[in-house]
Amino acid sequence: MTVHHTELLIDGQWTPASGGAVFDVLNPATEQIIAKVASAAAADVARAVQAARAQFDGGAWSRLSGAERGRLLNRLADLIERDADELARLESLDVGKPLGEARMVDLNSAIGTFRYFAGWADKIEGRAVPTPGFRGRPTHAYTIREPLGVVGVITPWNAPIMIAAWKLAPALAAGCTLVLKPAEDAPLSTLHLGALIQEAGFPPGVVNLVPGLGTEAGAALTAHPDVDKITFTGSPEVGRQVQRTAADTFKRVTLELGGKSPQIILADATVEDAVRGAARGLFANQGEVCAAGTRILVHRSLHDEVVTGLAEAARAVKLGDPFDPATTMGALISARHRERVLGYVEAGRREGATLAAGGGRPDGPGFFVQPTVFTGASPDMTIAQEEIFGPVGTVLAFDDVDEAVRIANGTRYGLAATVWTRDVTLAHDLARRIRAGSVWVNCWGVIDPRLPWGGVKHSGIGRDLGASALDAYTEDKAVTVLL
Ligand code: NAD
Repeated sequence: MTVHHTELLIDGQWTPASGGAVFDVLNPATEQIIAKVASAAAADVARAVQAARAQFDGGAWSRLSGAERGRLLNRLADLIERDADELARLESLDVGKPLGEARMVDLNSAIGTFRYFAGWADKIEGRAVPTPGFRGRPTHAYTIREPLGVVGVITPWNAPIMIAAWKLAPALAAGCTLVLKPAEDAPLSTLHLGALIQEAGFPPGVVNLVPGLGTEAGAALTAHPDVDKITFTGSPEVGRQVQRTAADTFKRVTLELGGKSPQIILADATVEDAVRGAARGLFANQGEVCAAGTRILVHRSLHDEVVTGLAEAARAVKLGDPFDPATTMGALISARHRERVLGYVEAGRREGATLAAGGGRPDGPGFFVQPTVFTGASPDMTIAQEEIFGPVGTVLAFDDVDEAVRIANGTRYGLAATVWTRDVTLAHDLARRIRAGSVWVNCWGVIDPRLPWGGVKHSGIGRDLGASALDAYTEDKAVTVLL
């Protein structure tokens, strides 16, 4: 397929990088180069920030009403829907994920997110606050929720258009302007989105795109003094660096980081459903999912049945060409990432866990890794503690609910968790006791734009999505009038 957009989008103009630098974008399933994309330098980032600042400080965008911003967001959602098949093909080509999954999960989420926040744009209200007055005279006090300013957006490669939508939609609804740096491994769908933003009629400079390297374009955006906020999704290591740099200029930060999410299968669970759901939580998107349910905590009475079921599910996965409708798992993003994932498999073996399925990679081109299930591990092993970000899961047995909660909470992460049970009391009890941003009961991965999304502990700071995302892009101003 043809890749149409490979340049930077700054102030409404597609332009090459100032030094003319480009980086290669590969098809992970074939290892072929599919595009050469402009690689933004610090000077390009500065121009993009300037364009975003001009729109924010008195430009056409700053004069639009919330209703008008909402109309533009709805128009953008319509255009994404019109191009959804092409965008899904681009995502599949660039990320290596199965085409059907890209269309059903990533594109539907992006469209739904723009529509949800379009509805919010004219409902960002302040409050009239009763105050006791000042020195014997009454006061009239109220708050205004104002857009925060110029937002720097840094996104990962695993779900580029979906995560860009999670950040762009609330920021635009709130009235912010943006500079977005997509991940260098998979920038293509974001660049197509840039063309749709132009077509929808957003004033030039409201959304600027600076594809480039993290250490160059990402670092420049994070350090730029005229950026008011950074919203970042990626690894904890880079998130920590982003927060440190952002502190120099007191930028606000939202960080959506990694996870090591537990899926707890209680003794009364319907095993067939739990195994099917747990396998999805392990293998969806090649396991390159921040919320992947990679620690399967099983009541000892069901342990063997669950291991057998998950091993069968792993062997039933059809690994291959993401464009083949029969394929259920595609390729990992890069050779470097595949080696990282296989390194964790090796660590699992070395530390004494047993492979129930997978553990290797198929011959031939493409960054594929077999769906892999470990058993016989202990909760403190590397494979049960660290985020692997590939199709590798670890089954751990527990004897009672307290132990399950202890293991579930026993990592530095706290993004999501699943509980499989038919006991409604236990379900709610565990939902409270597990330290995570989201808990799913008898399902996995149900992320809805109406619900907040984010983590606790090392999984991040702040929330994307839901009404709380609007707080992340607004500041409260207090106005007091002496009457
Ligand atoms: P990454 O941290 O390597 O990169 C993320 C982004 O940061 C990329 O755009 C990259 O170019 C940029 N970057 C790299 N170095 C930078 C620097 N010094 N300054 C500024 N920006 C820099 O992460 P990744 O490999 O792209 O994504 C995988 C990680 O993302 C996993 O840990 C995963 O759990 C996490 N993730 C989290 C969520 C969530 O919602 N919590 C969603 C998806 C992915």
